[in-house]
Amino acid sequence: MITAVREVSVFGDAIAYFNEAAALLDLDPGIRALLTKPSRQIIFSIPFQRDNGELEVFTGYRVQYNFARGPAKGGIRFHPGVTLDEVTALAFWMTWKCAVVDLPFGGGKGGVTCDPTTLSQKELERITRRYAAELVEVVGPDKDVPAPDVGTTPQIMAWFMDTYSMHVRQHTPGVVTGKPLEIGGSRGRVEATGRGVSLVALAQMKRMGIDPKGARIVVQGFGNVGSIAAQMFVDAGSKVTAISDVTGGYHSERGIDIAGAIAYVQEHHSLDGYRGGDRITNDALLELSCDVLVPAALEKQLNIGNAAKIGAKLIVEGANGPTTPEADRIFTERGIVVIPDIVANAGGVTVSYFEWVQDRSGYFWKESEVNERLADIMLENFAKVSDLAAARHVPLRTAAYMVAIDRVVQSMKIRGVYA
Ligand code: NAD
Repeated sequence: MITAVREVSVFGDAIAYFNEAAALLDLDPGIRALLTKPSRQIIFSIPFQRDNGELEVFTGYRVQYNFARGPAKGGIRFHPGVTLDEVTALAFWMTWKCAVVDLPFGGGKGGVTCDPTTLSQKELERITRRYAAELVEVVGPDKDVPAPDVGTTPQIMAWFMDTYSMHVRQHTPGVVTGKPLEIGGSRGRVEATGRGVSLVALAQMKRMGIDPKGARIVVQGFGNVGSIAAQMFVDAGSKVTAISDVTGGYHSERGIDIAGAIAYVQEHHSLDGYRGGDRITNDALLELSCDVLVPAALEKQLNIGNAAKIGAKLIVEGANGPTTPEADRIFTERGIVVIPDIVANAGGVTVSYFEWVQDRSGYFWKESEVNERLADIMLENFAKVSDLAAARHVPLRTAAYMVAIDRVVQSMKIRGVYA
């Protein structure tokens, strides 16, 4: 007998949520088959010369999952763990994230299997330029629009844009988003994800009758997303009672001074040594009694090991994939409401869309205009998801996938399948 050893597939896990929603939508089997396969997966070698002259070869990927609603859209990851399976799963998620907030994009993702922390700026620039050069024919403002992800930065987007523009002999800022402001980035992009997290959280708190004034908020991860979301909660009158980063957690029932903590991180590059709260572990932080818990750090933080002990009424997924499917089921049973990642952290891709629009028109908006349009898009689409969840008696996650899948399917049907 032959026994096959099956590795755990990230893409396989990602499809689980899709299947649950697809079953409720009564999808045509052919359409369903199409949606569970990526449109295009590209793998290529990246010859790479170290500063000392040695030659190595890295592997690069770009997956364009679906184009029904527009050009593919999604980040580029530089990380040692990048695989085709992971990039495909991330491109699949981007398809639903763009659709659930009604952006005219499909889903994409890319990456290079490398460790950027060991590379000099010159080495990073060479990898980025070769990566971009390999993709010249298949990316572009009307084809596929990358952005930063884990391990990539606005500077890397600038090199990508420059390389692409040189190859096509045309200044093309709209080929990537997340660029520095000086070369076509958007105002408000850096704050957009945290801002979106707090916007949908406050809307859901209203639905649940939780007064933002004095509400207790716990935030795991005090980087870009977590710190901005925390500040927005404070601005709404809430108390952030605990924050954490990779160095551990800090707790104060009187409320952490968030502006002070942000200034501390700016100076010391982490919360290590921060004295504005009592030290607690990250595990204990997740289990604190609170109104809202915002996981804004890593995947799989809320899992079978701690789901029964989580003390929040509402969980707002700032991070991508912070809740395992097992924990999600326990939260539903316990009546804990979860705003899923594809909605909660869609503020970043929404302002990336604004960046693409501004680049293409050559006219740049004030930050207040960006923020106002972000709020319109997030709140209008979150309301659609909430209403559907209430009407169909399903969790917000299932409703979010249903809204997103339905939009992609409608576009496919109207265009017709070229088969
Ligand atoms: P970041 O690197 O700025 O911040 C991550 C934070 O998490 C840091 O404070 C880090 O110290 C902390 N952290 C790491 N390991 C931890 C641990 N074990 N326990 C507690 N804290 C830990 O990253 P970010 O941009 O804020 O992204 C956070 C999450 O949000 C990621 O899942 C990312 O994919 C997701 N996300 C980010 C954006 C965006 O626009 N930045 C958009 C969508 C989704």
